[in-house]
Amino acid sequence: MSISISEQLQARILDLAVDIQQVPAPTFEEKERADFIEAQFRLLNLEQVEQDEMGNVYGKLSGGSGKPLLVSAHLDTVFPMGTDLTVKREPGKIHGPGIGDNSVAVAALIGLAWAIQALNIELPGDLWFAANVGEEGLGDLKGMRAVMEKMKDQVAATIVLEGMMIGFVCFQGIGSRRYRISATAPGGHSWGDFGQTSAIHTLVRLCEKLTYLEVPTMPKTTFNIGVIEGGASVNTIAETANIQLDLRSESQEELQKLIQQVDDIVMNFDAGDAKVEVTTIGDRPSGGIEKDHPLVQLAINTLNDLGMTNADLRASSTDANIPLSIGHPAICIGITDGRNPHRISEYIDTEPLGKGMEQLVRLVIKAPGVV
Ligand SMILES: [Zn+2]
Repeated sequence: MSISISEQLQARILDLAVDIQQVPAPTFEEKERADFIEAQFRLLNLEQVEQDEMGNVYGKLSGGSGKPLLVSAHLDTVFPMGTDLTVKREPGKIHGPGIGDNSVAVAALIGLAWAIQALNIELPGDLWFAANVGEEGLGDLKGMRAVMEKMKDQVAATIVLEGMMIGFVCFQGIGSRRYRISATAPGGHSWGDFGQTSAIHTLVRLCEKLTYLEVPTMPKTTFNIGVIEGGASVNTIAETANIQLDLRSESQEELQKLIQQVDDIVMNFDAGDAKVEVTTIGDRPSGGIEKDHPLVQLAINTLNDLGMTNADLRASSTDANIPLSIGHPAICIGITDGRNPHRISEYIDTEPLGKGMEQLVRLVIKAPGVV
């Protein structure tokens, strides 16, 4: 089977990626971008185009009686409203915040439909599209949770697109739990009220215990106190302080054990007359399919056929966590190359896009036969 994505089609996808990138879409504020994509889906004459109440956009291309598939890409970016989204194009590269993560992948959803229509491809089964909200940071994959709730019984497998990292085949989701732990205490003047309880001293004593959490190296399991804040001035006994703690594991069981250790430490901690509160600020489930699962093997073979013989197989934290955590076959793949995701200096390389799109078209044709 020869599928070639013409130069003209690639240019169209890149132009669309820039148009998408120009519409700001911080997590929880994706509405304008969702409306833009909904309009694109309607232009394509996709069926059953709709947005759910969360702002996830859906559409469908009808195929034969084979197994239905879902292809998804997240709409949201890490860049706050007001970020300068100016794009700079040069031969082989496009620079701009969010261009790779994830505008080019959202453009690839639409590019996939363009390619299917342009090449007169008869799909073996129905192909569903979802452009979803809430992937990044505190979005906590909430968009994909709603997408899977709606689609899990209607599709046999899911392919999640990320704009960069062509050659990436993720089939294991890294689970995580994130906490904000805050302390409040009477506080006071550092000299005049010496002896009063300090929120900072309380939290530092608790944090010291957390640094001795025990984790296995296999399956990889990690913890990190990534943020510590609080206090008012050097001569004030702090009234408030808080930390942010990130717990991760490839294994749901090990993640649970780690969560249990944290719960025990907090429960048994003597905070005196300070008050310690734990708030969950992130909860992503882990899960995965085997490396020899037909969908993973198909993705690897497809890359091989396109001359990319070093498939990058690894666990990651993507929208694919959600289907994988409920035993639904899913992979996350890249569309082109790029650097500096989540930074203002983000850019994509445009040359690999043709292969990335060809990979995607081949996958949606063949996957219904293997899952
Ligand atoms: Zn992303």
